[in-house]
Amino acid sequence: MILIKSKREIDLIRESCKIVAETLQLLKRYAKAGVTTLELDKIAEDYIRSNNARPAFKGYSQAGSIDFPGSICSSIDDEVVHGIPSNRILKDGEILSIDVGVEKNGYYGDAALTIAIGEISNEKKQLMEVTEKSLYLAIEQAVEKNRIGDISNAVQSYVDKFGFGIVRDLTGHGVGKYLHEEPQIPNFGKKNSGAIIKSGMTIAIEPMINLGTYKVIVAEDGWTILTADGKPSAHFEHTIAIIDGKPEILTIN
Ligand code: MG
Repeated sequence: MILIKSKREIDLIRESCKIVAETLQLLKRYAKAGVTTLELDKIAEDYIRSNNARPAFKGYSQAGSIDFPGSICSSIDDEVVHGIPSNRILKDGEILSIDVGVEKNGYYGDAALTIAIGEISNEKKQLMEVTEKSLYLAIEQAVEKNRIGDISNAVQSYVDKFGFGIVRDLTGHGVGKYLHEEPQIPNFGKKNSGAIIKSGMTIAIEPMINLGTYKVIVAEDGWTILTADGKPSAHFEHTIAIIDGKPEILTIN
C-alpha cells in the first residue's frame, strides 16, 4: 500500500531530510584523498545525533547479513551501494558514493550523492554527470496523474543514450514512517505503467548507474553491492514529496 502523508507528516519528513542534506554537504567538504570512510562515518554520526536524530542505516537488518554497522553507506568506484565504512583510505582519482538516512520523531529522510576524489577520469566524470542528470529528469516526471513508470522511463531513456548499465536489482522506494515503503521505483520501465502518482506521496528516487554492465554481485561482507565487471558506478538520490501536484525536493538545504 502506498501511504499518503498529511501536511504535518510531510513537515516531519522534511525535518529529517534537511539533516540528511546538511550531513551530505558536510561530508562533501571532508571527503578528500587520505581520509578513511570510517572517519566520514564518525563525522556523519556525530552531526546527525547533535540534531537529536538517529542515523537510519546503523543497525539496519537484512536477512542473511550482519546488522549494518555504519551510519552512512560509503561505496568506492566499483562498489555500487551499501559499502561499509572502513579503514580504507580514499585516493585521488576515485569516486565515492555516500548514502545517508536519518530518522527523527519517527519519520525518515534518505539521499545520496557521488563525489570525485581529486582529479578523476573523463569517463567517471561523464558517468557522474549522467547519473545526476537522470535523477533530475526523473523528479520532473513525479507529478500528479503521471505513473511511477514515467519516473522509471525518464531515467532509462536518458541513460540508455550513453550506453551505461542501469542497475536493475535495486530500486528507489517510498519513504516516511519507514525507511523503505511502497512503491518500488525502478530506474527502468515503460511510460504510463505502474501506480498513479498522487499528492501526499513521499518517495526516494535513486538511479544507480554503471559504466559497464548493469549486472551486480554481492560482496562477501553480505552488504556491499559491486559491479559484476569491476567498472565504476555512480549513485544520486533525493527524497521528494508531491505537494499540490508537483514534486518538491526535501533533501536540500
Ligand atoms: Mg534509498
